[in-house]
Amino acid sequence: MSADAASVAARLRAVHEQIAAAGGDPDAVTIVAVTKGFGPEAVEAALDAGLADVGENYAQEMVAKVESLGGVADRARWHFVGRLQSNKVRALAGRVALWQSVDRASLVREIARRDPGARVLVQVDISGEEQKGGCAPDRTRELVEQAGGAGLAVEGLMGVARSGGPDAARPGFALLRGLVDDLGLRECSMGMTHDLDAAVAEGATMVRVGTALFGARPPR
Ligand SMILES: *Cc1c(COP(=O)(O)O)cnc(C)c1O
Repeated sequence: MSADAASVAARLRAVHEQIAAAGGDPDAVTIVAVTKGFGPEAVEAALDAGLADVGENYAQEMVAKVESLGGVADRARWHFVGRLQSNKVRALAGRVALWQSVDRASLVREIARRDPGARVLVQVDISGEEQKGGCAPDRTRELVEQAGGAGLAVEGLMGVARSGGPDAARPGFALLRGLVDDLGLRECSMGMTHDLDAAVAEGATMVRVGTALFGARPPR
């Protein structure tokens, strides 16, 4: 398993086929290549394979990767998808194109302060598993309104499903899609390597995929 451009391109074709088989339009579902745990070469391989969106989970790791990529980093749209402490926002502001893990008012305020007008997704807890983050589903509207009121551009919602495969994940995906529709939002970021099909079938507009593109992640 490696993260060279040829293997990533081949795996990307397989992901496109998987999206189509699940009833999605591969041209309409945005694939965010999640490069956490891989080196900067994975980002380059993703870009060379034709992907433009790259996702990172850890602030320090992202900053280091951006630095080591130099000008190449500008070719990617960087998504922050991991749990985020407010004190890390400053280091990321100006580099993150879409903040996907906005799940509380204090984080809204800090992003609005450091990166005015930023594009964000509100993360909703669709798993019931505390460590995965997200606001309670019944608080989603309030947080979306707070973010909008703070001048942030709320493009949609994001969720991380329950572990245990597509069947365990599916009710959470349906919940998230319903909230996106109720709130009149556009983006619905859900689905990772092991539950991609279920997410697409439930109406994901954006999937976040690491393992399926780069192979097994090296242990941290
Ligand atoms: C790691 C991660 C992904 C990608 O996971 P894979 O199983 O490697 O596809 C997607 N979203 C979030 C929030 C992640 O932390």
